[in-house]
Amino acid sequence: MTMIGNNLQAVQERIRRACEAAGRAPGSVRLLAVSKTFGPEAVREAAAAGQHAFGENYLQEGVAKIEALDAPPEPLRPRPEWHCIGPVQSNKTRLVAAHFDWLHSVDRLKIAQRLSEQRGADQPPLQICLQVNIDGGASKSGVAPDEVLALAREVALLPRLCLRGLMTIPEPQPDFEAQKQVHLRARALFDAVRAAGLPGAEQFDTLSMGMTGDLEAAIHAGSTMVRVGTAIFGGRSYPVA
Ligand SMILES: *Cc1c(COP(=O)(O)O)cnc(C)c1O
Repeated sequence: MTMIGNNLQAVQERIRRACEAAGRAPGSVRLLAVSKTFGPEAVREAAAAGQHAFGENYLQEGVAKIEALDAPPEPLRPRPEWHCIGPVQSNKTRLVAAHFDWLHSVDRLKIAQRLSEQRGADQPPLQICLQVNIDGGASKSGVAPDEVLALAREVALLPRLCLRGLMTIPEPQPDFEAQKQVHLRARALFDAVRAAGLPGAEQFDTLSMGMTGDLEAAIHAGSTMVRVGTAIFGGRSYPVA
């Protein structure tokens, strides 16, 4: 087996154990493989090992990769499920609407409205998570916790989007307990929005949180999708901005 295949297996094992420790069903957490800064061949390798969903941060890089993997003579099939997990400026929404299946980082109504207008009638609705600034980092993106429900109410009404859940990127914490405390706040918010009974509430099923360094704590707190890069593809050697 390849290195990426081995790493994927190890991460799946971490997820399985964390589910077991938390008393959760083993299939209740999806793995999103974050392939940012790695090339199309790394995605092919992960796909060959059974990975289906991939996350990209940087729009241009992500779109180039998606197009490369969709192009003849050897388009990757089945086509991976592509998740945009990075910030999106309003003049770039068209790229997201055209190429991605999911967007995890919606934090303003204007972005959501543009995406709904730009999503093609021949495409399935774009799957949306609202990014929450769960620990209040001043310079961070994400909607403030006390504004999430109001934003969710508006986004739930947009016709070409499907509101699936919430996403967080907490600051690194020193240990499992500290990680868990932050993740539990996100979980409480997630439960509150779900309980509000918005239109399409039965599809509001995704809590996107947990990365290489904190996926166990995230799963303990109720994450349903962990976004893992380093533990699958290795260290990122260059930033792409
Ligand atoms: C890079 C990134 C990840 C993956 O982080 P790792 O620590 O490499 O697992 C997850 N989510 C977001 C939003 C990212 O930018």
